[in-house]
Amino acid sequence: MHTKSLSELAADLKSGAYSSVELTQHFLDRINHYDAALNSFITVMDEQALQMANAADEQIAAGNAGALTGIPLAHKDIFCTDGVRTSAGSKMLDNFIAPYNATVVEKLNVAGMPILGKTNMDEFAMGSSNESSFYGVVKNPWDLERVPGGSSGGSATAIAARLAPVATGTDTGGSIRQPASLTGITGIKPTYGRVSRFGMIAYASSLDQGGVFGTSAEDCALMLGTISGFDEKDSTSSEQAVPDFSATLNDSLQGLKIGLPKEYFGEGLDAGVAKAVETAIEEYKKLGAEIIEISLPNTQLAIPAYYVIAPAECSSNLSRLDGVRYGYRCKNPKDLTDHYMRSRGEAFGTEVKRRIMVGTYALSAGYYDAYYLKAQKIRRLVSDDFKKAFDKVDVIMGPVAPKTALKIGEQSDPISMYLSDIYTIAVNLAGLPGMSLPVGTANNLPVGLQIIGNYFAEAKMLNIAHQYQQVSDHHQQVPTAFDAAKGGE
Ligand code: GLN
Repeated sequence: MHTKSLSELAADLKSGAYSSVELTQHFLDRINHYDAALNSFITVMDEQALQMANAADEQIAAGNAGALTGIPLAHKDIFCTDGVRTSAGSKMLDNFIAPYNATVVEKLNVAGMPILGKTNMDEFAMGSSNESSFYGVVKNPWDLERVPGGSSGGSATAIAARLAPVATGTDTGGSIRQPASLTGITGIKPTYGRVSRFGMIAYASSLDQGGVFGTSAEDCALMLGTISGFDEKDSTSSEQAVPDFSATLNDSLQGLKIGLPKEYFGEGLDAGVAKAVETAIEEYKKLGAEIIEISLPNTQLAIPAYYVIAPAECSSNLSRLDGVRYGYRCKNPKDLTDHYMRSRGEAFGTEVKRRIMVGTYALSAGYYDAYYLKAQKIRRLVSDDFKKAFDKVDVIMGPVAPKTALKIGEQSDPISMYLSDIYTIAVNLAGLPGMSLPVGTANNLPVGLQIIGNYFAEAKMLNIAHQYQQVSDHHQQVPTAFDAAKGGE
C-alpha cells in the first residue's frame, strides 16, 4: 500500500480493497516500526488518525468520497492543528496546543485525509539540515549518518521512507525543495500567495509559503489543488483562480523553452550533482524542449539580502514569544525583565537567537538604511533578473543544492550553511514557484532537479515534472532499509 500513488489508493479505497482505517493503520505501523531510527515525527496522532479514517470510511460507504478521502498524510509541525501540540521544532512551543487549524490543515481535513502526525523540522524553520530541532536531528533514509536537508526534513524523510504517502511543508528560502532533493522525492513551493499562511507559524512572512511533498508530481498536483486559493484570513493570499493541476499533466513539452542560468552551474557545484542535472536536461531535449542559456546576474547577492530580510522579519515575528501569552515560561523570575530574558533565553536555540540578534540589529534606527533598505533594493534586482529571463523562456532549470546530503555535524559554521541556499533563495525573494524532482544520484545519494516557473505557473511546472516521471523511475526508488521488496521489512 505504501508505494501506491494517491489515485491508486483512492481507487482501492473506493473498490473496498481495504478501508481507510486499514490503510491508516498500515502507515502508523510503519511509523512505529521505522521512525525510531529516522526521528521524522515529533508527534504521532494514532488515535485521531484512526478516528478520522473511520469518518472517511463512512463517507466512502455513503458514496461521498472525493479524490483524497481516506488517504492519510503528515503535516509539518509548523501548521497549527486544533487540539494538538504545534511546536515549530522549538522548546518554546513544546507545550503549545493549537486552538485552531491552519487553513491548509482545515482544507485537507475537509478533503477527508486522516492526519498521521506532525513532522520534525528545524527550529522555527531556520536551517538547511534539520539539525536545529529541539526534538533532535532527523536522519536521511538513504544514509542514516546524513542529514535529510531542512527545514522541512521530517516531512521529506517521512515520504522518502514511505511512512506517509504525502505531507505538507513550508519554504522560506528552500525548505521544501532542498529536503525533497536530498531525500529523492518530489516537492513544490507554489507562488507566494497561492496557499494561505493562516495558522502557519510565521518565520519570515514576506517569504514563507506552504506547499507539499509526495513521491510524484501527479500526487503533488492533487494535493496542491486542494490547499490553494484565496483565504480571507490571509490578506496576502492571492485571488488568482486555481486551475485543475491534474488536468494538464499530460500536455506535450514540444517547443518548451527551458532557461539554464549560467550562474547555477559555476563554481561550488558538485560534479556529480551537475552531471545528474545535465543528464535530466538531455532527457527534456528528447521530450521536445529547447535549451536556452540565460543569466541571473544578481544570484550572488541573493544570500546576503535574504540573510538580512529573513532575520529582520523573524525578529519581529518571534517577539510575540515572550513567556507571557503562551509557550515556555521560565521558573521564578525576579522581575519582568528577568522573565522576558530567561523565558526567551532558555527556550530558543542558538540559530534562532543568532537570527533574532541579526534581525534586530538590521532594523535598528541607526542601521535600517544600511542593511534592511539595501537588502530590499537587492530583492528588487533579483526579481527583475527573473522577469527578464521569463521574457525569453517558459521555465528555468538547475540544481536545487550544490551538494548531496552532508554527514550529520559536517556543516558546523552558519555561513557555509547559508551558502548552501544559493540556488533556492532567490526564488523566495521574487515570490516565484519552485519545485524539485528526483533525477538520479551522485555519491550514491539522491539529486533533485529544480524547476522554477513564472508567477502562478504551477500547472506547467507539474506538467513538466510529470512528463519526466513518465520516462524515468527515480521517483519510485525506495531506500533499501525501508523497502520490503529489498528485504528491508
Ligand atoms: N535555509 C534557509 C534558512 O535557514 C531556508 C529555510 C526555509 O526555507 N524555511 O532560512
